[in-house]
Amino acid sequence: MTARTLNLDDSLYNYLLDVSLRETPLLRRLRDETQALPMARWQVAPEQGQFLALLVKLTGARRLLEVGTFTGYSALCMAAALPDDGSLICCDIPGEYNATARRYWQEAGLAECIDLRLAPALQTLAQLEQQGQGGCFDLIFIDADKANYPAYLESALRLLRNGGLAVFDNTLWSGRVLEENPASEDTRAIQALNRALKDDSRVDLSLLPLGDGLTLCRKK
Ligand code: CA
Repeated sequence: MTARTLNLDDSLYNYLLDVSLRETPLLRRLRDETQALPMARWQVAPEQGQFLALLVKLTGARRLLEVGTFTGYSALCMAAALPDDGSLICCDIPGEYNATARRYWQEAGLAECIDLRLAPALQTLAQLEQQGQGGCFDLIFIDADKANYPAYLESALRLLRNGGLAVFDNTLWSGRVLEENPASEDTRAIQALNRALKDDSRVDLSLLPLGDGLTLCRKK
């Protein structure tokens, strides 16, 4: 027994899900439907969705922002955890999957509190700042184009209140973060974000090996 994070094999991972995953039938249906799409890997792991919902409740977040929504699984998890007066703004680009997200939010009775904005996310984030919403958000989940991760961090730090939380997905990038001189711009951007966060005195930091790596940054 060593004091380090376990390397989960399939049987231990399945045990983790078996004893802790509380996925509703609706979420399960959305996950199954999304699995059939060519970009299925864009969906968060179910235990990540449940963790995001717990974070919303733990932090008492009311104003949420999501960058990269896809078929809306993580948004559905987080929105369901909001108090009655909570709201979630989702940023994504137009795609057939937008309709899937909206259909499930509707079915969950959560469509009213989710505002899906279809435009390049940096544009939507800049608009929010221009509208005076800097410092207004409690929690921002970022799971979009990796090349913009460093730019999303800067936007997130302007939009979050002090003590607010930015959460980045895919920060272990299936292990590709270990590559030296990677050809992929996405890999380089994630490496740059991870390295920069280590010494970023603006945030408190933890990188959790949940799913494909989930980095939590609390704005000081
Ligand atoms: Ca992801």
